[in-house]
Amino acid sequence: MKTFERGSADDPVTVLHGIGKTTAALLERLDIFTVGDLLRHFPRAFEDRMDYADIAALADGQTACVRAEVTGTPVLIRGKNRPFVRAQAADDTGVMTLMFFNSPHAGDRLTVGERYVFYGKAQRAGRHVTMINPVIDSEETPGSGGAQTGRPIPVYPLTAGLSQTTLRRYMRQALAYADGMPELLPESIREHYGLIPIADALRGIHAPQDARELERARERLAFEELFLLAMVLSKRRKKLLRTRGAALEPCDMEPFYRALPYTLTGAQRRAVGEALGDMARGGEAMHRLLQGDVGSGKTAVAAACAYAAALSGWQTALMAPTEILAEQHFRSLSALLEPLGIHVDLLTGGLPAVTRRAVLGDLAGGATRVIVGTQALLTESVVYQNLLLVITDEQHRFGVVQRAKLAEKGAGDGFDPHVLVMSATPIPRTLALVLYGDLDISALDELPPGRTPVATRVLTDKTRLRAYGFMQTLFSKGQQGYVVCPHIEDSEDDDVISVEAHTKTLAEVFPAYRVACLHGRMKPAEKERIMRAFAAGEITLLVSTTVIEVGVNVPNATVMVIENAERFGLAQLHQLRGRVGRGELPSYCILFSEQTGGGTRERLEALCKTNDGFALAQEDLRLRGPGDFLGVRQSGVPGLHLSSFGADLSMLSDAQDAAQMTNISDPELDGYPELRAYVERMLKNAAQAS
Ligand code: ADP
Ligand code: MG
Repeated sequence: MKTFERGSADDPVTVLHGIGKTTAALLERLDIFTVGDLLRHFPRAFEDRMDYADIAALADGQTACVRAEVTGTPVLIRGKNRPFVRAQAADDTGVMTLMFFNSPHAGDRLTVGERYVFYGKAQRAGRHVTMINPVIDSEETPGSGGAQTGRPIPVYPLTAGLSQTTLRRYMRQALAYADGMPELLPESIREHYGLIPIADALRGIHAPQDARELERARERLAFEELFLLAMVLSKRRKKLLRTRGAALEPCDMEPFYRALPYTLTGAQRRAVGEALGDMARGGEAMHRLLQGDVGSGKTAVAAACAYAAALSGWQTALMAPTEILAEQHFRSLSALLEPLGIHVDLLTGGLPAVTRRAVLGDLAGGATRVIVGTQALLTESVVYQNLLLVITDEQHRFGVVQRAKLAEKGAGDGFDPHVLVMSATPIPRTLALVLYGDLDISALDELPPGRTPVATRVLTDKTRLRAYGFMQTLFSKGQQGYVVCPHIEDSEDDDVISVEAHTKTLAEVFPAYRVACLHGRMKPAEKERIMRAFAAGEITLLVSTTVIEVGVNVPNATVMVIENAERFGLAQLHQLRGRVGRGELPSYCILFSEQTGGGTRERLEALCKTNDGFALAQEDLRLRGPGDFLGVRQSGVPGLHLSSFGADLSMLSDAQDAAQMTNISDPELDGYPELRAYVERMLKNAAQAS
């Protein structure tokens, strides 16, 4: 005989009382399909309902719980105004009036002579105390499962048509399934870090008895999120690295260093060493992130790697996100490598057929050692003689599909090309480990000497005209500038219009100069045309959205103006500022912001004080927590809800360690079938997303 099976967390939400088709459809909008999904719908905040007070001590406006006895029969009052139920309750210290609007049956829940807990906001007029629409619990319930008082009460993200009370009711039912939820944290990890089991954590987050229990639940769930993220990334990395990279022979780098017009910084030298070390090992292919502020000299590191490859007869491909950037990289690499007898070539879409054929011929034949281009470098018609190394930037982080394409281009014999990813977004190391868990990291945390920092000021509208006067002076000396307007979420149309409107205004302010507009809605060819005209000095002032973040190097541009600066994160502001100060000329950054509250000033002032991207990222982290950084993660990894309000940096590194320990002790996760199933599902999602 089949025994009665207790419900499973995979059951649809409709197994719960009161959830039919209509409610299920509402819940779907919150991505809740199963009871398990519901249990993983976490509160966005908590109401503290643990403050008890005597009636006599209640201050006007104080929100508190009061233990009191109902002393008068509740009556429905139909006055001139809205009808309401009035009742009276008393404790040893005094009497208070209870008023219930919009709930004509409130009286049914109260019995004269019984004691209750009332939670609400007190109004005091002299000795007269009133509480309007208080939450009612019978005296025994506070702190127990269904209690509405005496404990922290979760506040959930909702959707139209679904009330807080209703969702809480469903959640209480769903908690009966908590014991059937998969445990994704290995027991050894839980023990080591003192974390509670998943079922307890779910009860603790949805129905905490007190602040301490809530804290334990939060801790466990935040840790779990970070642990899972680290797990997924490490497995993905392992998948990527199951391929072999060709081993690079040791070579003499001296000629390269001697030919450089400068001495490498310590950070650059270290990065070169790390990358060459990876490539020389001859095991897994390199998969390394080269992280460094704008101007930190990533190109020289890339060139050094290409040089080493070329010395041993291998080829390198450098992929840029746009043709104009490809041309720029081509010029810098040619300047560094051609004098050393290493042929660098450029492959772009716009080449005449004859030239294109010649470029491809040289590449296949091996006359070209370094090729620069866009993503087109991975298309079928491009054949390499022996591609060892692919250098790319952050925009082109390889998914599984591109990775396969890349492998086809590899050096043959089952070798995969080594990959070096360049990023100009400095991220504190602890976070980089999480965000880029599938990459090794080299950081260029030292700028070449002799840089003049970009002078940065925060201004308001009051001094706008003075700022325009200052810009005019720069323009009259033949210099150029940028104005960036924020990208406004959910109203892209307004945004585009505002950039265009601002362009018109500025064209009137600077009638003697050419002012042009650039935004993300433009066709790539149109964007390139404008960028080219700006780089050639034909346009003086470029007004844009943040699309110029990945723009070109225009050393003659000396002023960056950012409108509504408060809307940008510090890291992004710093990134934008990096568009100027790229030449010999002194450069300026003007941050317009009318906002002074909410830490805005502090953030913007931090930018005025330093030009060090890593320091700013650290400061941003301190001011805003890791949530924002983690929020920018690429697709295919689970969303982080709890870590944004629960996790700190030490938890990040603990979770990282925990994932590593788990991988070492049980690489195939045989002992953790639930964890393995989860990780596999995530990897599959990620593969589909890429
Ligand atoms: P990034 O790509 O990291 O933004 P680049 O590689 O474009 O930076 O280098 C910025 C500028 O600094 C270039 O003009 C480059 O020639 C110069 N540069 C790079 N390394 C050094 C160094 N060690 N000493 C002096 N100048 C350097
Ligand atoms: Mg660069």
